Amino acid sequence: MKDRIFIDRFPIRRIVHPPETSPVFRRAAGELRVYLEKSLGVSLPVTEGEPAEGVFYISGIDIEPGLLEIVGAFEKDKYDSSFAAVRGHTVFLAGENPLSSLYAVYDFLQACLDIRFFAARHEYVPEKEELRLPEGFLRKTGSDFAVRSWVNRTNDPEVIRFAVQNRINTILGCGPWNPSLGTDKGSIENAEMVRSWGLKMRGPGHCWRYFLPDESLFSVHPEYFPFSGGRRQVNGRTACFSNPAVRNIFRNNLRKYLRENPYWDIFAFWAEDIHDLNYCGCPECSAMTNSDWYMILVNEAAEFLEEEKPDAVFELIAYHSTRTPPVRVRKLHRNGRNMLVNLCIGQKRDIFSPLRKREHGSDEVFRRYEEWRRYLADVNFEGQIMMMDYYNLCEWPNQGPRGRALLWPMDVIREDLLFYRADGIRGCGAFTGVDCLCWPSPFNIWSWLQLWSRPDTRIETLKDDFYPKYFGRFSGPVREYVEKLENGMHERTSTENIERLKAFDPLLESLRETDVDPVLAERLRLLKLHHRYCVLLKEIFLAYLENDLPKWESLETPFNRFFEENREVLQPHFAPYPPLWGTLWYRYFRSRGPEMIRSEMLH
Ligand SMILES: [Zn+2]
Repeated sequence: MKDRIFIDRFPIRRIVHPPETSPVFRRAAGELRVYLEKSLGVSLPVTEGEPAEGVFYISGIDIEPGLLEIVGAFEKDKYDSSFAAVRGHTVFLAGENPLSSLYAVYDFLQACLDIRFFAARHEYVPEKEELRLPEGFLRKTGSDFAVRSWVNRTNDPEVIRFAVQNRINTILGCGPWNPSLGTDKGSIENAEMVRSWGLKMRGPGHCWRYFLPDESLFSVHPEYFPFSGGRRQVNGRTACFSNPAVRNIFRNNLRKYLRENPYWDIFAFWAEDIHDLNYCGCPECSAMTNSDWYMILVNEAAEFLEEEKPDAVFELIAYHSTRTPPVRVRKLHRNGRNMLVNLCIGQKRDIFSPLRKREHGSDEVFRRYEEWRRYLADVNFEGQIMMMDYYNLCEWPNQGPRGRALLWPMDVIREDLLFYRADGIRGCGAFTGVDCLCWPSPFNIWSWLQLWSRPDTRIETLKDDFYPKYFGRFSGPVREYVEKLENGMHERTSTENIERLKAFDPLLESLRETDVDPVLAERLRLLKLHHRYCVLLKEIFLAYLENDLPKWESLETPFNRFFEENREVLQPHFAPYPPLWGTLWYRYFRSRGPEMIRSEMLH
């Protein structure tokens, strides 16, 4: 076979990784082989061995500290650092841990062969004649946030691969994460699949139903169960936590659970996903806030986790009734040294404006953020803090149809990340509800992941990179169209606003699908279908604003059927499908009435 990869004029003919080490190095070698073949048409053998002339050598500095001499030192304040270096006719691809060796490979493929991983099964691999690297080549990469967590909705190995390709290091959910369907427990096989990529497992999330006193105890011990509506009752979510016997049962069930589900590297201890104003309304429980009771349970559970899994991180969450910090409990187990605090408090924020501008709902969110930060400082917290955001705009108020149209405000996301980084936040996680989202294009989800590692990157730079690679010769007009569409969807809804959106039709029509390759033709068709959806959303909004009930009702069927009618076209670009909360928005508006919506609506 013809040589196609060179260091100066010296050919590279093999991929080598050290013997008997992490399976992740073997995977990294395999991934390099796959993409070199796709791009250059060469098929390099993978073998175990030592660095030598004419090879790609894949390893990690955790097993070969001497490799660090090649880079000198990694950049300060970066996580999961890795490098590609050419020394003595050898290409070294290595990182500070096994997962980072995979990053070394993917970062190298992107930098040197222009490959991009836009979404699962939606990658860009240009064909190249040859790859020529100079002796002395050195490229270091790293991520600005320590925890970069992906929510595993489909458990599709291709999605996990895509996540790693874009520097995700933690997966929430050992299986298709959906606590309301009871699929949050996971399995050994799923854990092995995720771990085979070197990823950390995080979960289970909303999990208290596994730890509560069993319902069968109610007849003998009604006092174990929450007091609400004037009596004790079973709710499947909470218990009378001021009763020491209840907390004892809770802890023992937790221990049993951890032994049966031993996967978690980050044990996410969250209450069930319902906004319980109080866990129990008895006089003893009512003497303290929910957050105080939560922190008592956190401290006790953290001690148990430490006994069962000393290396696991304990995650607690500020969410719903724990959005405000505890008042009475002023101590964390070991000062929270091995804890991750997840601030998931942004449900009501205005996501079209940076958080720290405190506009509309963001003001309250920012107050909660500051209160938690102050609390953690006061209790000498020594662990890490992460933000779990809702940029997907699936949650209610203040978000308008631009959000429902999946037109995320990337500039705002970037500003928030820069603020978090400067403010000492070390983790990012978001609940988008999607594993694959290429509608209207994968730009938003892809650029968002780039920002999680490198928030300094400008959005314009990401667009310059994305559009030509994804839309080929239509790059210019498509980019112009999407920017106009974002502005139009952002504008206040009115008859004129909808007319302006409809006026994009000729621009879209000019993107002819004939005489283009089938992949590009499909991408253009998806844009057109998305435009129809945008107009439909705006019309529903207008009918509501104008209190035009007949119009509203005439739109209900097209809206409710949209995702079913377009399943065939959309499903390969949207997973899980149909989208979570796809039509919930409509039902929510209907239940609120136009006056309420008008007062809440900002866009
Ligand atoms: Zn109680």
